[in-house]
Amino acid sequence: MNDSDKILTLKEMIKTTNRICVFTGAGISCPSGIPDFRSANGLYNDKTKGMYSPEQIISHSFFVDKPELFYDFYKNKMMYLDAKPNDAHIYFAELEKQGKQVSVITQNIDGLHQMAGSRDVVELHGSIHRNFCMKCHKAFDAAFVKNSAGVPKCTECGGIVKPDVVLYEEPLDDVATYKAIQKISEAETLIIIGTSLVVYPAASYVRYFRGKNFVLINKSSTPMDSSADLAIYDDIVNVVHQL
Ligand code: ZN
Repeated sequence: MNDSDKILTLKEMIKTTNRICVFTGAGISCPSGIPDFRSANGLYNDKTKGMYSPEQIISHSFFVDKPELFYDFYKNKMMYLDAKPNDAHIYFAELEKQGKQVSVITQNIDGLHQMAGSRDVVELHGSIHRNFCMKCHKAFDAAFVKNSAGVPKCTECGGIVKPDVVLYEEPLDDVATYKAIQKISEAETLIIIGTSLVVYPAASYVRYFRGKNFVLINKSSTPMDSSADLAIYDDIVNVVHQL
């Protein structure tokens, strides 16, 4: 199938089904200026922190042992408060407004799907926009964390304010996992966007899909391409501009 036939096929799949589940990874937020930390030029190759790899820094044990360094990295490399939803985020929010039952499952922590207007969003890895005092559980917004000097401390009790983001060594939230599997299993069309699918848990969730159309949209090939009904190798913003 050539590229224009693929776009026509995708259009038809979206047009002829109502329950559409969109599973997104870093690739959908790249066009919004948020780097993919697993790509060659992304965060994981950042050399500025010397002896610690980004994987080490954003782990639970590192957060406990060296909170100053954790927050220095987190605030500078993972919080993009000026980022705006791009045309891909907006496309799926619009599809929902047009009456489709669109559910979004995302591995991203940037909140851009909700900012675009999507109402049914499962955040598997949490969100930079939710932060809680570890002692009294008072809630704080992302700007509070970003603008705090050093380790953010609770204004009520002085406890450390921790982002509601799943760090390495931490389990995924049970409710989010359950919802994600439920939405995948109920969908007629499943569109996986901007994730290599090698990272847990995306690959293991796909087997719950019982619908008609399994679509992959990614800049490069993924290990699941052969089981997809349609695989498109392009930037998602380029794709939605043709829909
Ligand atoms: Zn507190």
